[in-house]
Amino acid sequence: MARFKTAKKKKMRSRPKRVREQMECRFCRDQISYIDYKDVELLQKLLTQRGKIFSRKRSGNCAGCQRKAQKAIKRARFMALLPYAT
Ligand SMILES: [Zn+2]
Repeated sequence: MARFKTAKKKKMRSRPKRVREQMECRFCRDQISYIDYKDVELLQKLLTQRGKIFSRKRSGNCAGCQRKAQKAIKRARFMALLPYAT
């Protein structure tokens, strides 16, 4: 019995690796040493629509700045400037 070959070999396509253009994080680049918790507009850029904090990979921050941003966001939440969750 001749059967149709159904199992085709999947081509292993390797994605072209994205080259990151910017290496410095936005806060290091602008030389911001303190992230203000009252600057809601800035902090909102680091949040998802539902109010979760973007990961370091997503936001592109360095470890130190991410920590500062995290602290600022948590402070802003406590002061009811930002939502905990939506
Ligand atoms: Zn940084």
